[in-house]
Amino acid sequence: MRFIVQKFGGTSVATPELRERVAGKIIAAKEEGYTPVVVVSAIGRAGDPYATDTLINFARQAHRDLSAREMDLLMSCGEIISGVVMAAVLQKAGHPAVFLTGAQAGIITDGSYNEARILKVKPENILKQAKEGKIVIVAGFQGVTEDGEITTLGRGGSDTTAAALGVALNAAYVDIYTDVEGIMTADPRIVDGAQALEKVTYDEICQLAHEGAKVVHPRAVEIVMQRNIPLRVRSTFSDTPGTLVTSSGEVYRGTIDITRDRTITGITQIPNLVQFKVATEETGTEGLTRQRRLFKSLALSGISLDFINVYPDEVVFTVKEDVWQKAAQILENAGFKAGVTPDCAKVAAVGAGMTGVPGVMAAIVEALTRENIQILQANDSYTTIWVLVKREDMEKAVRALHRQFMES
Ligand code: ADP
Ligand code: MG
Repeated sequence: MRFIVQKFGGTSVATPELRERVAGKIIAAKEEGYTPVVVVSAIGRAGDPYATDTLINFARQAHRDLSAREMDLLMSCGEIISGVVMAAVLQKAGHPAVFLTGAQAGIITDGSYNEARILKVKPENILKQAKEGKIVIVAGFQGVTEDGEITTLGRGGSDTTAAALGVALNAAYVDIYTDVEGIMTADPRIVDGAQALEKVTYDEICQLAHEGAKVVHPRAVEIVMQRNIPLRVRSTFSDTPGTLVTSSGEVYRGTIDITRDRTITGITQIPNLVQFKVATEETGTEGLTRQRRLFKSLALSGISLDFINVYPDEVVFTVKEDVWQKAAQILENAGFKAGVTPDCAKVAAVGAGMTGVPGVMAAIVEALTRENIQILQANDSYTTIWVLVKREDMEKAVRALHRQFMES
């Protein structure tokens, strides 16, 4: 059997008409000779009756402090509803189909409720059902511990389910179907002229995802790349080929990879950041001790810092908005004076080909100052150059960089 894993996101299965479309894509794969294994997310987005966010809000209203374990049981229902409905649509179209929960599909996770990691997949049940000629539909975003506890995988978890199944079944492809044409040069909700990329490497998409382009969960990419399983990001709403994601710089199935020389792959953004500027005052040994204490106290509290710049008498970093008050409290308790800039956003230009290319930072600064966008902080790494701007400038900054690098 030549498996193909097809994952459909929440918007892809939102209406009866769309579910017919989805069934069409599954049946088409079957007719091409593949054995489809389908992963579904919960139906719709926040506000829709069976969407995950709706279940979370319901739980919070019903009972403020629902335990993580019970929360996972509740959250796992969205994908069960969605999967059962999809199986019914396929059956009605005359294609034998069976729905499996994460547990029934053999998705084994660790016990971290809400954020569980897939440890392994026991594919026996899927294989058995597939051998009987059935299209297997698997609930995304959920698994089970070795002790039989139901867990969920965190945001974007259905992508991870699809990736793990792709590896376990040695699938020809893992296809991530969503509401955009593929991996694009920027978030199409911000940039009208964003283009779908024909091919990207695993590394490029991981970078994009880590910098905020959450079209595919980075963990999912890390899983498929271990076994070189090609991933495609495609639209449920059209029949375009989408974006092929494979390893870098290699000849892939007869075609030469042309992505290698691309300076910049895409522009990304992460909103809701808060910048801290902490005076460590003393220089020399005294200052170093204070800086060490600062990082240690924040690390102990589990707050992750981004965008860190260390100067002799000052440390600058950002944290996510939802933890900034906690961070401020910790710093105060430890005796530090911190300047805080709320409502910031990180905008990044990402591309493996920019390494050693001179002038990228200069071009970024030029593009942003031309638009009167203030740069609060800037930094670069091997594959990314990023700037911190005010949240209100975020969209404008993304558009300016897209124009500068992707539209010329
Ligand atoms: P799904 O529910 O199908 O998993 P997601 O919302 O997780 O869909 O991911 C698709 C969304 O990702 C798109 O609607 C788009 O707004 C957003 N997105 C952000 N950056 C990019 C990008 N560079 N390319 C494509 N989509 C992007
Ligand atoms: Mg998603």
